[in-house]
Amino acid sequence: MKEGKEGLELDSKSKDLIKKWQRQGESLKKKHPKWNAEKIQQEMKKRILQDAEAALSTRSGKAYVEEVNAHLREVADARKKAIDGIMAYMGKTSPEAIAVVLFELDCGCIRACAVSQKGNPMGEMIMVSGKQVEKDSECSVCRDDGGADSSRCIRKSLIWPGEESELPSEEFRLDIGKKVFGDDYSLDDI
Ligand SMILES: [Zn+2]
Repeated sequence: MKEGKEGLELDSKSKDLIKKWQRQGESLKKKHPKWNAEKIQQEMKKRILQDAEAALSTRSGKAYVEEVNAHLREVADARKKAIDGIMAYMGKTSPEAIAVVLFELDCGCIRACAVSQKGNPMGEMIMVSGKQVEKDSECSVCRDDGGADSSRCIRKSLIWPGEESELPSEEFRLDIGKKVFGDDYSLDDI
C-alpha cells in the first residue's frame, strides 16, 4: 500500500481538523436540509480555507492554502475522471439507460448503477475508485466492507448522459429522482 504518497501527509492536528470539518459538514446538512451537496461543499471550502490560514503556524498560511487548493483540485479531477469513465462504461453496457445513479463513498470510491426509463435500477452495480491509486491496488476500506456500508455514502446523485442541451426536462428528472431516492428528492437535488 502506498496510500498517501501523492496526497497530503496528515499529522494529528490535521486529522483533528478534518474531523471538525466533517462535523461541520454534517451540521450544515441538518441546518440547511434544502442545500444540495455542491452548496454544502462551497460553504465547507470557505471554512476549510479560513481554518487552514489560521491553524498552520509552522508554514505560511498562503503556502498551505495553495496545498489545500491543489489537493481539492486533485480530488475534483479524480472524481471527474471516475464519473467520465462510469458514463462511458454505462453507455456501452446499458445504452438504453436514461441516467446513472452514483453513490459516492467517504474513501473516494463511487458505486454506480444504470437507471431505466421507468426509474428502476438496471444492469449491475459497479464500483470505481475515485482515488489516484496505482494499477491493481484496491481501496483498503472497500476491500474490508465491499463498499456496501451506506453510512459511508457522502453523496447520492443522478447523472444524465450527454450534453447539457440534451438534458431531459426538470419535471422528468424530478420524477425519476423521486423514484430512485424517494419523495425527499427535490428540485435542489437536480
Ligand atoms: Zn473505497
